[in-house]
Amino acid sequence: MTVSTFWLIIVAWVAIAAVAFIVLLRVRAPYGRYTQSGWGPTMDHRLGWFLMELPALLVFAWFVLSGSNPMSIATWIFFAAWQIHYVHRTLVFPFRMAPGSKRMPLAIVGSAIFFNSVNGFLNGYYLGSLGPSYDLAWISDWRFVVGATLFVVGLVINLQSDGILLRLRRSGRYEIPQGALFNLVSCPNYLGEIVEWIGFALMTWSPAAAAFAMWTAANLIPRALSNHRWYYERFSEYPPGRKALIPYLV
Ligand code: NDP
Repeated sequence: MTVSTFWLIIVAWVAIAAVAFIVLLRVRAPYGRYTQSGWGPTMDHRLGWFLMELPALLVFAWFVLSGSNPMSIATWIFFAAWQIHYVHRTLVFPFRMAPGSKRMPLAIVGSAIFFNSVNGFLNGYYLGSLGPSYDLAWISDWRFVVGATLFVVGLVINLQSDGILLRLRRSGRYEIPQGALFNLVSCPNYLGEIVEWIGFALMTWSPAAAAFAMWTAANLIPRALSNHRWYYERFSEYPPGRKALIPYLV
């Protein structure tokens, strides 16, 4: 693939993210707390999560490892960062979800498989073949240092917050989450995820990673706003000072 074709795909992909952002401000994706009938055939939600995240793990790995660029130390670090996130998301997170009869529409699973395949391909192909070879000096570049720091901070926030929610869910009902960043925002797991992928985009300085960070924000900002409203509607005692996504701001 030529560089200009790749850029064309990136621009189109970002444009679709912008449309998705607008749609998701109006329509709540029907999984998790917004599960409802009328979205066609469904499947077990834990199997759904496993299937929809698997392409991000495999497609990315394939294109990085089989690419024409040599694997430098920096590329191995990018590879490890991505895989740590997606090994957890694919092989650990779904199996920590409360077992039960919860279902997920096949339409959500299918669109997420497409989403994760495209992102896995764009990011893997850029790092494996199209992008620079990232020599040792890259590791001391400010973009790498700041990006890697953001990635780790975001990952810790995401894992810690999802952990709190998954433990709460074991009670079989929704409750008001407390502790850590939940004292400041309703959706610290989303905040952590967005920070992670902004960090990844900075540390790789890759257009594909920047597009993925934009997609993550397009998916999760509207959902954080919906979740925040949902908490206030459901719990009269919901902490009044808590924001949706960004402490003290939004
Ligand atoms: P949620 O916060 O909606 O749910 C996470 C888990 O916690 C679910 O098992 C949910 O149960 C449970 N849960 C949520 N709130 C409560 C509560 N108040 N009380 C008890 N249990 C609760 O997250 P998502 O399912 O939307 O996302 C999961 C992960 O995937 C997140 O880390 C998110 O960042 C990531 N993600 C990333 C995207 C991207 O574009 N990169 C897109 C979407 C998600 P139940 O399922 O029954 O509601």
